[in-house]
Amino acid sequence: MGLSARNPPSAQLVPRAMLSLLLACGTPAAAPDPTPSSPEAAVYLPTPTPAAPTWPAAGAPLQVLPPLSAGARPVRLVIDAGHGAPGNSGNTSVRCEAEADFTRRVQDELLARLANAPELEVRSGRPSAALLDYGSRIAAFNAWPADAVVSLHSDARAADNLSIHPSTGCWSSTGASGFTVLFSDEGPPDLARARRQLAEAMSRELHGAGFVPYAAGYSEELYGSIGAGVYVDRHPVGKRIRMLRGTKVPTVIVETHQASDAEETARWAEPATLDAFAAAIRRAAVAAAVEGPHG
Ligand SMILES: [Zn+2]
Repeated sequence: MGLSARNPPSAQLVPRAMLSLLLACGTPAAAPDPTPSSPEAAVYLPTPTPAAPTWPAAGAPLQVLPPLSAGARPVRLVIDAGHGAPGNSGNTSVRCEAEADFTRRVQDELLARLANAPELEVRSGRPSAALLDYGSRIAAFNAWPADAVVSLHSDARAADNLSIHPSTGCWSSTGASGFTVLFSDEGPPDLARARRQLAEAMSRELHGAGFVPYAAGYSEELYGSIGAGVYVDRHPVGKRIRMLRGTKVPTVIVETHQASDAEETARWAEPATLDAFAAAIRRAAVAAAVEGPHG
């Protein structure tokens, strides 16, 4: 979703990027205290503990949370690889990977991890390399009918801090990372409530696993903030996101990470990240279903 990373930044963005770097660096470290500490004082100084890295830094911990108990029947879950529709390949990552290829790769990795979950029946939203239009997908989700659809995307919103990555030659950004979950509250109240329950469960479980919500903020005009990392589609009627408003089953979009952030993109190449993400989706689908009509 979001801005295509292929679009070059405007010229005034370069100074802003430099400003961001300066701000990120913060106040210069204070000069060392020239007064030597006494040997007695040194005895009582606590041993400094190195700060744990925070997401998306390398080594920032993620957890594979345990599954939740099933409800009365298995939850029908669709993992949908966003984009890959005719004329719609999405953004391009800092590793120069098309968003449609990233989402299909992650979709298949998640399906492999969830195939044997007894509390789920899992299907693919885009099961082959062939392009598949959104209308056909939505019809399939409704016909099953799915209890939950999670459509995978990566984001490209850090548009005020873009530069060309020196190694890959594709757009790179720093200082804005994290996931977001999008849903629609349009349509019947029961459906709108079920979508929101799924969106909030996804955000809660991702956060619990160690992922961090995107904090830089979406346009308030286009997205209503519901909670940490959760937004409701507020585009003008007629321009709202079809996958969110067009399904008759609870559907969310998960923007897994910022595709232009090199650190976060590197984390998304790690199998352990997919393990933690799969476990979070597994829990969220069950939690939302238990809250909903067939719990
Ligand atoms: Zn997308």
